Amino acid sequence: MGRKILVVEDEALIADAVAARLRSEGYEVQLAADGPSGVEHARRWEPDLVILDLMLPGLDGLEVCRRIQKDRHLPVLMLTARDDETDLVIGLAVGADDYLTKPFSMRELVARVQALFRRLDALAGITAGRSIRLDDDIEIDVDGRRVRQRGEVVHLTPTEFDLLVGLAEKPGRVLTRERLLADVWGYRDGSGARTVDSHVRALRRKLGDSVVRTVHGVGYALGQDADAEAR
Ligand code: CA
Repeated sequence: MGRKILVVEDEALIADAVAARLRSEGYEVQLAADGPSGVEHARRWEPDLVILDLMLPGLDGLEVCRRIQKDRHLPVLMLTARDDETDLVIGLAVGADDYLTKPFSMRELVARVQALFRRLDALAGITAGRSIRLDDDIEIDVDGRRVRQRGEVVHLTPTEFDLLVGLAEKPGRVLTRERLLADVWGYRDGSGARTVDSHVRALRRKLGDSVVRTVHGVGYALGQDADAEAR
């Protein structure tokens, strides 16, 4: 299956030309014609890359970029109408990975997209292997900060994600609330145990009750242990 590229561009001629060219290069492409639907598509479709026009109806490209990157890094190639716009966007330190000024040739666009994917692959190579598998068909992509269950992406908040990883990195071990507060939240004084409880409840709601075990009087644990295998 080809990589997925979301094109958020309100000018239909450009959007169609970009989509046609990328499809001919073997990419899967979806289009969104305004800011809000771009955000929505990015959330539901989980593209590998977003090509994002700066000037969009509804929400501009800067805001779209912020929203789609709220929970995880999603590579963005930003399209701008003029060089001074590009300077402005870079100055604002918006999380775009590359910029292309209109008008551009399709050949140039494809070259940028390929270069971006090469860079991402190189990065992924460095951090490869940071993936944790759990019971209940749960897979945690630690670096991508993504969780899948039976192949479907489960949306966790950043804190829920950190809590899950905190537990998953010590499979079978029981962690006290105080320890989790220290590891996940960085609290050192042992207060706020109910914070842990409420986030554990959220994880169970999203991933199933069996995902986190309560060890009464002690704390929480994840993954198989002798008890779990006997069950
Ligand atoms: Ca535009």
